[in-house]
Amino acid sequence: MNNPLTTPFNLTERLAKQRSENLYRQRLLLQSPQQPQVKVAGKDYLAFSSNDYLGLANHPQVVAAFKEGANLWGVGGGASHLVLGHSNPHHQLELALAELTGRERVLLMSSGYMANLAVITTLVGKGDSIFHDRLNHASLLDAGLLSGARFSRYLHKDLINLTQRLTSAMGNPLIVTDGVFSMDGDLAPLTELAAVAKAHKAWLMVDDAHGIGVLGATGGGLVEQEGLGVDDVQILVGTLGKALGTAGAFVAASEEIIETLIQFARPYIYTTSSPPAIAHATLTSLKLLQEESWRRTHLQQRIQQFVAGAQSLGLNLLPSSTPIQPLIVGTSEDALKLTKALREQGILVSAIRPPTVPKGAARLRITLTAAHTSEEVEQLLDALAASSLATCPLEP
Ligand SMILES: *Cc1c(COP(=O)(O)O)cnc(C)c1O
Repeated sequence: MNNPLTTPFNLTERLAKQRSENLYRQRLLLQSPQQPQVKVAGKDYLAFSSNDYLGLANHPQVVAAFKEGANLWGVGGGASHLVLGHSNPHHQLELALAELTGRERVLLMSSGYMANLAVITTLVGKGDSIFHDRLNHASLLDAGLLSGARFSRYLHKDLINLTQRLTSAMGNPLIVTDGVFSMDGDLAPLTELAAVAKAHKAWLMVDDAHGIGVLGATGGGLVEQEGLGVDDVQILVGTLGKALGTAGAFVAASEEIIETLIQFARPYIYTTSSPPAIAHATLTSLKLLQEESWRRTHLQQRIQQFVAGAQSLGLNLLPSSTPIQPLIVGTSEDALKLTKALREQGILVSAIRPPTVPKGAARLRITLTAAHTSEEVEQLLDALAASSLATCPLEP
């Protein structure tokens, strides 16, 4: 029963509980563009917490293309894609992304969250089954619940556990996984997952939000790196707000899947198209992905430098070869203390707490980008070395 002293819907209690459990979230007010050197609440920091992996969010050519796009196409999309909101830059970007991913066709979406809702709720429903890696992104899990399909979460990257669950699949089975796991930075075993999917006549959907632009010979992501075709990975979702530095997302798949989404996907149909100038700017990001391929090399060097440095300090990093480098701290309280200690040294890293990550696995999610210099990575390592919370081994 509701306590008569609480406010309607128990908001006061819910907020108080969030505070008392060290789970209260606060937004930092960024007073500079997204880049390693940021200004927050009047102070300058060196930041390791964006997903701008290639340093394109504030790249002069991308900024210039955005301005040019606004001059050519105005600001608002003005209507949904199916009414009169589908303009030339959207179309050009779909073609360019189809080429990058080696897929027949691409559909642009306003965000990754919506892309996942669109694909999953359109492909599966009541009477079908969906199989999730336990650590999949929240948007994939939400989409699975909304779809009404029978919902099953297999142990992280565990093919045996997945195979067991698949034996009781109903209807059309869909296996869904992050490519690069967003909070752990490790890679899904895509080649093996594709084989399991085939053996059970399931489809495999990969959300490569953190792999697109970073992995693969041309930046096509983990699917490119593993050399998987449309017969292996039927649906590939990528986002544009991370390595590509702009905003939005896309679905890359067969002609038939894309046409089905255009006809039936409610999160595609019932929303205004994203500003065409964003698509225009993203075309420049794609051009830079090829012309400035040194950005990927430079990023890999920063990752290797950080991992080697962290290992010699004995830091409790999760094994990851990607720009996402999680430093496990344990309790939410300690994670907050460590971010505070780093902030006092001018370094900004985000603490990630439950429910985004499991209880007891609160962490600093350190992200490296091509815009960081080797001196800046050294600065981070020095700051971590100075903190006992970062260097103390966890209790068993
Ligand atoms: C960021 C992210 C999304 C959401 O993409 P947005 O474009 O930011 O809505 C989806 N999936 C994964 C794995 C992500 O990391």
